Amino acid sequence: MRNSAIVSAYKQKTPGSARLSARAREVFPGGVTHDTRLLDPYPLAIARAKGARKWDVDGNEYVDYIGGHGALLLGHAHPAVSQAISEQLAKGTHYGAAHELEVEWGEQVKRLVPCAQKVRFTGSGTESTLLAIRLARAFMEKNRIVRFAGHFHGWHDQVAFGVTSHFDGSAPPGVLPGVAEQAAICPPNDIAALERMLDQFDDVAAVIMEPTGATFGLVPLVEGFAKQVRELTARKGVLLIFDEVITGFRVAPGGAQQLLGVTPDLATFAKILAGGLPGGAVAGRADLMDTITPRADREWNLRHRVPHQGTFNANPLTAAAGLATLRLIEDGRAIADADRAAAGLRDRLNDMLKRQGFPWVVYGASSGFHVFLNPRERDVTPADIAAGRVPSDELKPLTGPAVHDLRCGLIVGGMDLFPWPGGCVSAVHGEAEIEATVRAFQTCLELARDQVAV
Ligand code: PMP
Repeated sequence: MRNSAIVSAYKQKTPGSARLSARAREVFPGGVTHDTRLLDPYPLAIARAKGARKWDVDGNEYVDYIGGHGALLLGHAHPAVSQAISEQLAKGTHYGAAHELEVEWGEQVKRLVPCAQKVRFTGSGTESTLLAIRLARAFMEKNRIVRFAGHFHGWHDQVAFGVTSHFDGSAPPGVLPGVAEQAAICPPNDIAALERMLDQFDDVAAVIMEPTGATFGLVPLVEGFAKQVRELTARKGVLLIFDEVITGFRVAPGGAQQLLGVTPDLATFAKILAGGLPGGAVAGRADLMDTITPRADREWNLRHRVPHQGTFNANPLTAAAGLATLRLIEDGRAIADADRAAAGLRDRLNDMLKRQGFPWVVYGASSGFHVFLNPRERDVTPADIAAGRVPSDELKPLTGPAVHDLRCGLIVGGMDLFPWPGGCVSAVHGEAEIEATVRAFQTCLELARDQVAV
């Protein structure tokens, strides 16, 4: 059951969003352009954003924890990034040709990312995992890809199951059963299960994973697991792909691979890489990446080469935004600022929740936070969750009345977060934003107290 006090406060605060949504429903299926924006009775509509804040079409201010779906580690409309974009805008948005900025951008990725001997830019994170998987299959001349249950890698056919449903590897609507049959889905944090799987199948090309756990650590991987996967895949002669679309340039300048000291064969990037504009990349071992490079040998090109196109790959505008961003995060200071703000936020929220007698637990690592709604009222700490002591199906609810009420209630309180539920903290979230966030949670709790959703 929805909490009616929260829903009516939400409606009262956001009439402009309601009006826009009525129009959107006539245009877009479901009334939205991305599934995470689905919200009952209607989604929040935003008019502008700056730094750590955004304002809706009614002029209400919010502390933003969606941060351009994690792309904006430096905050909205960062002056240096905006300047780089406007300067490039005046020089043209698409040359249909090679250009210097793309080379500098690629060189910067190589400088920062341990596995990046070569780089190929794409149009999005989804395109990046699509390309990485195809490269792995072509290079290994094997078909099967092993994934971890719950790990998100975009929405293309190869990865469109086993994230929130179809954990048995069956094909969801619209995906060919033959595609789903070429995957194997492994429980996370279970190295013995992965070893059994690699022994069972002799056709595995690669293992792909979110290196800090499903949905940016919503279901954390226990310490040392990524290293164990690296050792096991190396021993079994299977490639390892880190999907760093969200961790890349966020958890360390060189991504999770730098933070964890584990180097994959290939890695995928998007979000921060592209400075808030659309873009992505695959980076990795030169011999693997050179599966794209044409050879003089026509027969090899036909039998082994992976062709790769994409109208907006490394377009000058994205290259300008991405390069400006990567230069700003290179020294690690922005990342440290975001990490510090997130740690402060998690501590302050947990103190407040404990004082108020709510069983929710705020946890996470680096600049992320997640809200565990603790449906069974377990006596757990963030450290227990990090150590894998809470089952993953309790950590990844994603839908349901409690998550709905939390999102709507927090919007009423003045903040916006992902429906995980959780968010990404930026380098420009400071003390004032943390204070405002604690107040937003208090407002939500007050509304929920009389009528807690079940
Ligand atoms: N992989 C991961 C780990 C992601 O977080 C995302 C986006 N949330 C994607 C892939 C897909 O990226 P995009 O939305 O740019 O296609």
